[in-house]
Amino acid sequence: MPDFDDPDLALLRDSARRLTDDVLRPSAARWDRDCEPPLENLPHLARAGLTGITVAEEYGGSGADVVYALTAIEELAKGCTATAAFVLTNCVSAEVLQAFGSAEQKRKYLPPLAAGEWVGAWAMTEPEAGSAATELRTRAVADGGDYVLNGSKVFITRAAIAAFFVAFARIGDEPGAKGVTAFVVDRGTPGLRIGAHDRHMGLRGGASAEVVFEDCRVPADSMLVAPGQFGQLMRGLNQARVLNPGMCLGIAGEALGLATRYAQTRRQFGREIGRFQGIQWMLADMACKVEAMRLLVYRAAGQIAAGHPDGPHNAAIAKAFAGENAFEVVDRAMQIHGGYGYSSELPLERMLRDVRAFKIGGGSTEIMRNRIAKGLFDRFPV
Ligand SMILES: Cc1cc2nc3c(=O)[nH]c(=O)nc-3n(C[C@H](O)[C@H](O)[C@H](O)COP(=O)(O)OP(=O)(O)OC[C@H]3O[C@@H](n4cnc5c(N)ncnc54)[C@H](O)[C@@H]3O)c2cc1C
Repeated sequence: MPDFDDPDLALLRDSARRLTDDVLRPSAARWDRDCEPPLENLPHLARAGLTGITVAEEYGGSGADVVYALTAIEELAKGCTATAAFVLTNCVSAEVLQAFGSAEQKRKYLPPLAAGEWVGAWAMTEPEAGSAATELRTRAVADGGDYVLNGSKVFITRAAIAAFFVAFARIGDEPGAKGVTAFVVDRGTPGLRIGAHDRHMGLRGGASAEVVFEDCRVPADSMLVAPGQFGQLMRGLNQARVLNPGMCLGIAGEALGLATRYAQTRRQFGREIGRFQGIQWMLADMACKVEAMRLLVYRAAGQIAAGHPDGPHNAAIAKAFAGENAFEVVDRAMQIHGGYGYSSELPLERMLRDVRAFKIGGGSTEIMRNRIAKGLFDRFPV
């Protein structure tokens, strides 16, 4: 378990908190209302070293591990989920590039990512292949020294603004994971088209859209994950599994703070509503959930940073728990705020719409439960 009082983590937490208070929280409602990605916030994140927090120092990053990224994301998500998500997706791009990329790919993509000049997108989900990612149908056919990609992707966060896409495609006729590969495809490559923009319930600053490959020709050296490496990729890429519940933790922590303050000031029946036991117990249950979430998420992050074999299993537990309980905490906070909580004058209705996404995106709660059960069967064989 990471030491929450570690002075370096405390410094990072304080600086992310200041950025959240000064920059993120005041404009969060605007990005949501206008369905615009918070690009103005990228230079602030970059100056704080957060766009490249897990990028190696030789590529201009901070070279920190996932516990640091989680600490920053928890604070940023309290103010603006869409901005915190920039850090999350940059960490995912950095993780795959650092684990699988060639020297050339690292030199090309990591420095602008760390500088906040480029953002990447993860283009895996397809209309017919969501949870079952290994059933994806986008094809990559070798042609001379190139590959030609055809297929379409849906729900791709940041597709509308990404400078490059980690695009998954199938090579050859091998079914399942074996034939799956990934290419880094630059925006502007002929044959890559951004399709319909998504009209999501929440995370409206996510710039999410469909991505279509129509005879999209890419050089062979843009291959990032070779055939046969997909299983290794899925086992090895663990940061998103704790950063995603880290977003839930931040949102739930914010909701708890808002509700606790409101309960001490809102008066009904001649007293503050926080003096009613019904409200106190709601707050107490919310606090239990937030603290349990924090311990689960940070323990998993610490294990993943240390390469502990239990990390992925505990990350699945953290994600399943955080996704469901963060939604409940925000819902309770809304209840404590009564009609004002339901109004878009307050941030809670946006937070509720945003947090709902985390039970689906990045692996649904059901898929997490499947993983947890498999881990249990492996641990307790008969
Ligand atoms: C906000 C958001 C952002 C996203 N960003 C990206 C992105 O950047 N890149 C990307 O590639 N994708 C992205 N996605 C897509 C996301 O990964 C998929 O939505 C997710 O994997 C589920 O796939 P699906 O929507 O096709 O649902 P399906 O897989 O069709 O699932 C439908 C329902 O069935 C359940 N289910 C499926 N299989 C099982 C099973 N074996 N056991 C029990 N239940 C099961 C699911 O849990 C779900 O409840 C995003 C999605 C959201 C909501």
